[in-house]
Amino acid sequence: MSALPEDIITPAQETQDFLDQKHQLLIGGEWVDPISGETSTIEDPATETFIAEVACGGADDIDRAVVAARKALKGEWSTMTTHERSRLIWKLADALETRLNLCTELEVLDNGMPRPIAMYSIVAAGVNYLRYYAGWATKIHGQTIPVSPGGAPNGGTLTYTQREPIGVVGAITPWNAPLPMVILKLAPALAAGCTMILKPAEITPLSALLIGHLTKEVGIPDGVFNIVTGHGSDAGAALAEHDGVDKIAFTGSTEVGKIILKAAAGNLKKVTLELGGKSPVVVFPDADIDRVIPGAARAAFFLQGQNCMAGTRMFVHDDVYEEVINGVASMANAFNIGPGLNPDTEIGPLISSDQVETVMGYIEAGKATNADLVCGGDALTGPGHFVQPTIFGQTTMDMKIAKEEIFGPVLCVQKFADSDLDSIAEQCNSTIYGLSGSVWSQDISVAHQMVNKIDSGQVAINCHAAVDPAIPFGGNRQSGWGREMGLEGLDSYLKTKSTTVMF
Ligand code: NAP
Ligand code: MG
Repeated sequence: MSALPEDIITPAQETQDFLDQKHQLLIGGEWVDPISGETSTIEDPATETFIAEVACGGADDIDRAVVAARKALKGEWSTMTTHERSRLIWKLADALETRLNLCTELEVLDNGMPRPIAMYSIVAAGVNYLRYYAGWATKIHGQTIPVSPGGAPNGGTLTYTQREPIGVVGAITPWNAPLPMVILKLAPALAAGCTMILKPAEITPLSALLIGHLTKEVGIPDGVFNIVTGHGSDAGAALAEHDGVDKIAFTGSTEVGKIILKAAAGNLKKVTLELGGKSPVVVFPDADIDRVIPGAARAAFFLQGQNCMAGTRMFVHDDVYEEVINGVASMANAFNIGPGLNPDTEIGPLISSDQVETVMGYIEAGKATNADLVCGGDALTGPGHFVQPTIFGQTTMDMKIAKEEIFGPVLCVQKFADSDLDSIAEQCNSTIYGLSGSVWSQDISVAHQMVNKIDSGQVAINCHAAVDPAIPFGGNRQSGWGREMGLEGLDSYLKTKSTTVMF
């Protein structure tokens, strides 16, 4: 069965015009060819057809971009008032908002996600992230600290701290939610007064390139935001190890996160890492099942399960297990699978044939266990990288499908009989990850106790993956280092200088 309908909706003319442009590197405010002259082709994962040709930069282009970013760090950007910086970030938000349809279509064609998700959860959310951090630009300040160093008399000294931009930031981002991954780094970096070199995911660079055009349009000074599209193993690796870079902000797999850390050791640059997940969804017998079923289906299958926060492991009490798993399966079976631009699509394609192969490898591994295949279990015939939403019941935590991040539409459901919170928590915490999670119960006392026992950066009660620019987000254990969003997301782009005056 193919998921491609006869009528595939084509993008708007403005989107086609953008795709047809020459896509170069943004270095020092100029669009330039990579030194090698190489390009890569970008495909629509729903149709496997060519959509754009993009410059493929390498280590020598990273060198050029670092020179530009270091120069910009000392230029007009460093003396600009915080009000002006705030205004520029806000203008960037406005410029993106007026390109809502263009940016939505670029995300859909590049990544495959359904249009409403691209429009509201991705692009409109990106506008909000920019506005949130535009507000912070004017509120960055230090403290005065009453101290008596060396026994100086009280009142004989003044100590104050200042918050300074951390410097040149290298941002390396994944393909699963291309635009927000860029903005969650760019917005706080701009608010803090940093400059940036971005290496977006090789297969989804288009929305990042649009942001590059918009930074020029709104007047962000040359060299403050640079983009080097290219391979992770080349441009990405060069950025991570570059001595002229002061911080790497990385989102991607735990495996590559560990490579980044080693590469960063040369000049001890600061590192924040947003990595993988395998998040638990715990359902107690008193939960409101009418909310659990759609909530769990969304948690597992949002972005085709290619979502770091995905709720891919459900722990459901015996009393409600059948009702919950059957309810989620009937939603999964009813989802319309198709190209993201088609208005009735609810589940788009996976990003690539490699991803289909990886996900199908896990599904086959699941079929070889004692787990119940409740729904799905197959890839659709091409064109397009479509895999059915798949649910395995009666899973146990010793199974590969329950332990490892699949990053595809595969949900594992496990039963618990007695509501001993410690033993549920032990299962929840038995992967290398600790990113997200949710607890579903009407009993606030049980729900809060359960939350406290789950070792994750974010746990929601009666919803999954609450995301807002003001809520710090990030992983425990091997899900990451540090937090994005909120004040903590700004802090990691700042360094503190302490000054003491002795009178
Ligand atoms: P990935 O393979 O780790 O790639 C992420 C980025 O790193 C890409 O730009 C990639 O370039 C680059 N890269 C690859 N090798 C590199 C190297 N040796 N040095 C420097 N950069 C390198 O991740 P992905 O497959 O794109 O994304 C999926 C993963 O991201 C999942 O594990 C998911 O959980 C995680 N993720 C986490 C969050 C979060 O907030 N915690 C959010 C979204 C996704 P190429 O594009 O050329 O490969
Ligand atoms: Mg990858």
